[in-house]
Amino acid sequence: MTDQPASTMRMRTAMRQKLESLASAGVTHIQSPRAAQPREPAQPREPAEPSVLAELQATQNAAPGVCAQMLQPRQAMPLPLAEVQPASTAAGADSLEQVGRDAASCRLCQELATTRTQTVPGVGHPQPRLMFLGEAPGADEDRQGVPFVGRAGQLLTQMIENGMGLKRGDVFIGNVLKCRPPGNRTPSPQEAANCRPFLDRQIALLKPEFICCLGAVAAQNLLATDRAIGKLRGQVHHYRGSKVICTYHPAYLLRNPAAKKDTWADLQILMQEMGLPNPGK
Ligand code: SF4
Repeated sequence: MTDQPASTMRMRTAMRQKLESLASAGVTHIQSPRAAQPREPAQPREPAEPSVLAELQATQNAAPGVCAQMLQPRQAMPLPLAEVQPASTAAGADSLEQVGRDAASCRLCQELATTRTQTVPGVGHPQPRLMFLGEAPGADEDRQGVPFVGRAGQLLTQMIENGMGLKRGDVFIGNVLKCRPPGNRTPSPQEAANCRPFLDRQIALLKPEFICCLGAVAAQNLLATDRAIGKLRGQVHHYRGSKVICTYHPAYLLRNPAAKKDTWADLQILMQEMGLPNPGK
């Protein structure tokens, strides 16, 4: 048996670190180049990390009576399969992996391309019923290459798993921008326009029945409107065959716990549209 070349060992180490990073972020699926296989029914998950629940409980205490359901661990519900085709036949030769590769080599936004650690194209189930869409990667996401892994990401996981009874790996999570704006500033209209083809390619491949926009930037960009998030939430919109629900960004909820009751109401609309059991009724 011959020694492994150093480049092969480095590549294996980098791949193992990347997989461990994805696993720690709750990623349970990576799309195969071949046609994706039908998913298994969702399995019950362990209750959320005590530290996260304690933090949520603290914000709950700051606004008594707000979305208590979001704090209660729930049994994950089986997610009905959407009628989808394999990505290879649903969108020609394109693939989520190709979108990720193209974004990684993209330098359309000069400032972002020169300051990013890496691009963050998105993670999750390759054939989801539900896609969550945020604004842009933050510092943690830029470091790990995975969206929604910081405190706001932990709250999003709570919303998905404890609030909706799904698993994070059953949905796809992405952002309007694939690169972190320096200092977490709001993406410029030009940056959002530059990155839009990547988002539209992802939506064409994923064909989600439902898209949940998290925050004004995601909602306004997807729906091409300048209406305030407060006016967009609470109703069902449509984008290219997907039903769209808009609600507040988890980072906003961490700063404004009183808004959790509105987000919980939006999630209840989403669950009703998806045919999921609603624990609030
Ligand atoms: S934000 Fe999007 S368009 Fe801009 S450089 Fe990054 S990948 Fe390219």
